[in-house]
Amino acid sequence: MENNIDWQKEDLNYIWHPCSQMKDYEQLPPIVIERGEGINLYDINGKCYKDVVSSWWCNLLGHCNPEISASLKKQADKLEHVIFANFSHKGIISLCMRLAKLLPNGLKKFNFSDNGSSAIEMAMKMSFQYFQQTGKPEKTRFMALTDAYHGETIAALSVGACDLYTKIYKPILMDVIRVQAPDCFRCPFNKNRENCSCECFKDAELQFEKYGTQTAAILVEPLLQGSCGMRVYPPLYLKKLREICNKYDVHLIADEIATGFYRTGKMFAVNHADISPDIMCLSKGLTGGYMPMAAVVTTDKIYNAFYDDYLKGKAFMHSHTYSGNPLGASCALAVLDILDKGEIQEHINKMRPYFNNLIKEKFLNIDNVGEVRSIGLINAIELVKNKDTKEAFSPNLRLGYQIYKKALKKGVLLRPLGDVIYFNPPLIIEKQDMDFVVDVAVECTKEALKEL
Ligand SMILES: *Cc1c(COP(=O)(O)O)cnc(C)c1O
Repeated sequence: MENNIDWQKEDLNYIWHPCSQMKDYEQLPPIVIERGEGINLYDINGKCYKDVVSSWWCNLLGHCNPEISASLKKQADKLEHVIFANFSHKGIISLCMRLAKLLPNGLKKFNFSDNGSSAIEMAMKMSFQYFQQTGKPEKTRFMALTDAYHGETIAALSVGACDLYTKIYKPILMDVIRVQAPDCFRCPFNKNRENCSCECFKDAELQFEKYGTQTAAILVEPLLQGSCGMRVYPPLYLKKLREICNKYDVHLIADEIATGFYRTGKMFAVNHADISPDIMCLSKGLTGGYMPMAAVVTTDKIYNAFYDDYLKGKAFMHSHTYSGNPLGASCALAVLDILDKGEIQEHINKMRPYFNNLIKEKFLNIDNVGEVRSIGLINAIELVKNKDTKEAFSPNLRLGYQIYKKALKKGVLLRPLGDVIYFNPPLIIEKQDMDFVVDVAVECTKEALKEL
């Protein structure tokens, strides 16, 4: 019977795909994937796609990684899930013990959920409740950066700032204090990210002066503002944030959902700045991209503000059904086993200059490439209408989308963010794949520009 099913047609009969205008699927039907291996995805016709976006940035160590798969299979035969209130299991305890050693100083209390957005919600509720219970009930507001992305649920959208996702919902979002994010490509101070003193931090100072006393926490994507265009900024900005948060007693919430697990070249992006946040959110790479799992990690200080006799009503009454899922934990443990060997880190260090130079060499001579920016194995190419003025193309041209479609035909899964083409591949990517995907991306970019 399976043989007679038109999978693409049935997909469209039933499925409403995420972050998609479904009408676009008339021209570009869903690609039905059958299996994955390393950075390759194979569709039901056997066509291969190089997954250089790590399937929305979560696949850390390749599809169907043998070690992670083995760990998951073993766990599935033992215990698939158990209620996490009052119950526990060895996998999640081991995971916390091991992560605590890798996390910045002081982060050692773990709360689990099953996706990044819910981790952000949890972090915000935790920070808010902390101040309610420690004598500063006036701290009820949140700060976040311009061009921030923290997920898609209502509170997470509220702290986010990409119009594409938030605009229509504004009437039902929280009123968040907006801090001007660093914009190193279009720096208003005419500096560059390698040698500035974060002159742009001025706006943060202004907002803290004005609103610091009413603010519970500031959320930040450390070093890399991902979904709003892969914007890379210097560690100094984070150091300054840490200092000013201390000064105004504001929690620093590091959203490491996209940046954790060596995406930026270090275990966590905050490691580049040598700082410790008060709360850190992890997801995506945590399970190697296998199982939906997120962790919110915090300090004893915050934890202790919730610790009291039950009738005092101070507990954190937050739960998710799949909190602490054993299958997720088994994958996360396998990821840590692989990272413990140190080979991935060596591989990143070796490949980073090669990949970055290759991209610079092949893209920078294209007239419409405004900037190539990179951190870890992530490389982003921002296309502009005018290189000198850095004027952007009209979004109505959907330039990035044209490039996306062309690259798919040639077997590369790029998924540009507007006119920012980027590579965020599984960390195991090898040279010959880098050569191939960059060549395809360059070809498609040139073709799409010519057709404008
Ligand atoms: C993906 C992402 C989120 C949201 O995670 P989901 O699992 O998609 O809900 C939050 N913050 C950042 C920085 C992300 O990249």
